[in-house]
Amino acid sequence: MTELATPPARAARKEIVRINHWIGGRSVTGASGRSGRVYNPATGEQTGDVDFATAEEVDAAVEAARDAFPSWRATSLAKRAELMFRVRELVHERREEVARILTAEHGKVLSDAVGEVTRGLEVIEFACGIPHLLKGGMSEQASTGVDVYSIRQPLGVVAGITPFNFPAMVPMWMWAPALACGNTFVLKPSEKDPSVSVWTAELLKEAGIPDGVFNVVHGDKVAVDAILEHPGIAAVSFVGSTPIARYIYETGTKQGKRVQALGGAKNHMIVLPDADIDMAADAAVSAAYGSAGERCMAISQVVAVGDAGDALVEAIKQRLPKIKVGNGLEPDVEMGPLVTREHRDRVAGYIDGAREQGATVVADGRETAPDGDGFFLGVSLLDDVTPEMDAYRDEIFGPVLGVTRVSTYDEAVRLVNENPYGNGTAIFTRDGGVARQFQFEVEAGMVGINVPIPVPVAYYSFGGWKSSLFGDTHIYGPEGINFYTRGKVVTSRWPDPATSKVDLGFPQTR
Ligand code: NAD
Repeated sequence: MTELATPPARAARKEIVRINHWIGGRSVTGASGRSGRVYNPATGEQTGDVDFATAEEVDAAVEAARDAFPSWRATSLAKRAELMFRVRELVHERREEVARILTAEHGKVLSDAVGEVTRGLEVIEFACGIPHLLKGGMSEQASTGVDVYSIRQPLGVVAGITPFNFPAMVPMWMWAPALACGNTFVLKPSEKDPSVSVWTAELLKEAGIPDGVFNVVHGDKVAVDAILEHPGIAAVSFVGSTPIARYIYETGTKQGKRVQALGGAKNHMIVLPDADIDMAADAAVSAAYGSAGERCMAISQVVAVGDAGDALVEAIKQRLPKIKVGNGLEPDVEMGPLVTREHRDRVAGYIDGAREQGATVVADGRETAPDGDGFFLGVSLLDDVTPEMDAYRDEIFGPVLGVTRVSTYDEAVRLVNENPYGNGTAIFTRDGGVARQFQFEVEAGMVGINVPIPVPVAYYSFGGWKSSLFGDTHIYGPEGINFYTRGKVVTSRWPDPATSKVDLGFPQTR
């Protein structure tokens, strides 16, 4: 291990760790003279300084990936599968180690960080099945003596640009299938919590992944633009906010790249009057405040139908004082700080904004935030939120849950379908017929029926609709394999040369 994967205990001694790029199988100190500060959000202290790459440094990473590609794509499926199994074993053994690094820079509680790594591991496990996943189709005797078969081949150098909120799992969604398919990879992680990516690079090297197959460049818009404009990069996967996702998609596709760009969300949870109110309240509280609401699949808006509203708001309110907010490394803490001071202040601003616009503030997280310099905000609950309010329209991305009251199921579904986002949504009911109708007509990519955070298992694919995803393919699962490969169809025959003749007619199959 180099000093890059410094455990939090060292950060507690107030050393500021320099976080470098990883190019061609080794740590490379940035030469741009530009860097970003990395904080421990629970203490408010700076713990790291992350190098910001220039276009030349991005180019060096692409060159390393390009050099590694020919032998990596020629590596047998059996060998690639064996290496993915080894990666899987190492990540599994060290999941708590990486979770600690993650918590120290992101702030989420340790159990949640372990959960994130575990969901990422599922994608690595899926990628271990790559020999099966890359099986093509074959048609014998498509024409007389002619066989036709399809194969899928890697794209070359592919890049991933990832958000702060899942610094381990979201990169795993990308690099695990991309590498298994035979591509080489350049990752540009979030500059807010970059150390997990360097830890990953070291682990992949230890597992036996050849140098240059996986590279990390840190940075901001300069590095991102260099990726988007680099002619040596064939495809870009992006996960982050909607304005940046749109920019990545438009810029990357204009450069002729294959792009999947997953954006932000405003996930509604509809609660019908027949639902079990306690179960719905447990689900809403868990899904709204877990990871301090910094999840793209968090429930940020409850829609209470008919007379469900009063009982539901009361049940949620009763649960709030029991949520323990604090440093995520402490064992009994349930919710950590927000990622930066600026983000915490922006989220808190929605509480006053909602009150001024007519909402009822049932719980104000500023009153229950722990003392100290950490970027803390307690849990907030806003009732009587209407679609015109900023707290409804914007993705707040913090521990603020809004409740909107409507009279009918139809009104509730209309709210979801008229929303510009379409990532996840959920319905809580005991009525199977209504749930099925909801699944049929709701405009979102991931639907939960009595499940508040319906993140698909690794052998399905993850992705939203509307402004939550730009591009044609969802991420990981079968669509991930398609994204990181391109199809080729081979038509072959082995005729007797004696039968060969010139024929200018269009080839017929009958
Ligand atoms: P972000 O869009 O600010 O940053 C994502 C990445 O883009 C980072 O690597 C960042 O360095 C880069 N970036 C930021 N500004 C840029 C610019 N102007 N030009 C080029 N690149 C830029 O997102 P974030 O704050 O890190 O993450 C939170 C967001 O991600 C939320 O909106 C959340 O909903 C979304 N998210 C979506 C999913 C999903 O699957 N749909 C999953 C996780 C997070």
